[in-house]
Amino acid sequence: MMKKAVFLDRDGVINPLVYNPKTSEYESPHYPDDFSIYAYVLKSLQLLKAQGFMNIVVSNQPSFAKGKTTMENLKAIAHLLDTFSAENGGLIDASYYCYHHPDGIAPEYTAKCLCRKPGTLFLENAVEKYNLDIQQCYFIGDQDTDIKCGNTMGVYTIKINNKHSLQKSGREPPRTTVNNLYEAALKIKSLSK
Ligand SMILES: [Mg+2]
Ligand SMILES: [Zn+2]
Repeated sequence: MMKKAVFLDRDGVINPLVYNPKTSEYESPHYPDDFSIYAYVLKSLQLLKAQGFMNIVVSNQPSFAKGKTTMENLKAIAHLLDTFSAENGGLIDASYYCYHHPDGIAPEYTAKCLCRKPGTLFLENAVEKYNLDIQQCYFIGDQDTDIKCGNTMGVYTIKINNKHSLQKSGREPPRTTVNNLYEAALKIKSLSK
């Protein structure tokens, strides 16, 4: 039997972006201490699981490639989310991280890869691995690259409004726009009935 999944961007969706004084921008967390999970994530992911969805995180993490942090920090942050998932009964079924960047300074992660969103390689891999019906899948993200990834794949796209990523959104139209992950989960519940 085919399964259904919600693909989730991480930064700005599950965890807040973090102000970086060096760039004067809100960015992905670079240190474990900067990583926190929005309070509504637990009930949001539980709601999606209760609707029969797999929760699959798909995240670009180029900060080591760009020299902004260490790979150890990025792995430690990913581990914090894994721990949160495990402590709550396995809320997240799979996580896919792209550590590449086309203009990086770390040679081993500087590449034009196919997994960096809006590339769809991770979604294609998940569809095959878990036998997903893309007609029943969703993509939730806060930037154009997320929406473009989901639109290219042909899944229903939900954009989360985020004041810190406005300059990286608005050019790729989502199917629906909401204010946070919980609203997205409620929307999916209403559409899945
Ligand atoms: Mg994001
Ligand atoms: Zn990649």
